[in-house]
Amino acid sequence: MPKRVLLAKPRGYCAGVDRAVETVERALEQYGAPVYVRKEIVHNKYVVETLSDRGAIFVNETDEVPEGALVVFSAHGVSPAVHEEAAQRSLRTIDATCPLVTKVHKEAVRFAKEDYDILLIGHEGHEEVEGTAGEAPDHVQLVDTAEDAAKVEVRDPSKVIWLSQTTLSVDETMVRVRQLKERFPEMQDPPSDDICYATSNRQTAVKTMAPSCDLVLVVGSKNSSNSVRLVEVALQNGAKAAYLIDYAKEVDLAWLEGVETVGVTSGASVPDILVMELLKFLESHGFGEVEEITTANEKIAFALPRELRKDLVR
Ligand code: SF4
Repeated sequence: MPKRVLLAKPRGYCAGVDRAVETVERALEQYGAPVYVRKEIVHNKYVVETLSDRGAIFVNETDEVPEGALVVFSAHGVSPAVHEEAAQRSLRTIDATCPLVTKVHKEAVRFAKEDYDILLIGHEGHEEVEGTAGEAPDHVQLVDTAEDAAKVEVRDPSKVIWLSQTTLSVDETMVRVRQLKERFPEMQDPPSDDICYATSNRQTAVKTMAPSCDLVLVVGSKNSSNSVRLVEVALQNGAKAAYLIDYAKEVDLAWLEGVETVGVTSGASVPDILVMELLKFLESHGFGEVEEITTANEKIAFALPRELRKDLVR
């Protein structure tokens, strides 16, 4: 067998990331630097470094933004408390929260109003779950581990619903849901899937190619939930090895020893230029043949945030 690369499609940028990154770029063009951004606009080192070079200033909290300045909220979403803090400091805000995260926020608000106990499946400390839980802190409990699912208590087992972070492993989430349903058989499902199309499509592509791969390389940053999940999905579905890398230069040549087929994919926050650099690197090490494995064609796009649209020259 010649050495070859299987290239997953879809991979890389999703519609929410594309919109969030363009929001910062257009804000810099429209209003000039600096543009403050609360948290990483998307979880990718290259994107954050590139935008920083152009004049974006990334901060952890709104109190680091000078009074009256412009701040962009990241794709992962923020809680109402963050909007209030920004208003108190008279900040001008542009909310680049992905509309699919906003959808989960609205579900949390709606079911809290109806006085449900909401079990939010997600990773403790992730910005997205902090934002979603912050919509209804008195009604939401986070379920991260199997232990959490075994311990969580609800007020009325006939009035419980589960929601989830958008970037989880589809399979592992269903394991957690089954575990919860054993304890709360009347628990309701979300009105529509919370794990977004981009997360599940990228996992499906990896599942398809993983059994044929000696090695899977996922381009993505360590704090990118959906990228980390792609490594796990590759290993769970037959790849002999899988690694997460930000850049081609991080590939350890020992990983390529005895390898005939390398699978390549990237997380939803990764620009394709980084994948192209990896393909060039692999070609220089004998992996010149590239076959794209297509499991879905994505056509979703989101309009820019309205706070920005109103100021843009048409
Ligand atoms: S991964 Fe999904 S939820 Fe997150 S920004 Fe992309 S489309 Fe939106």
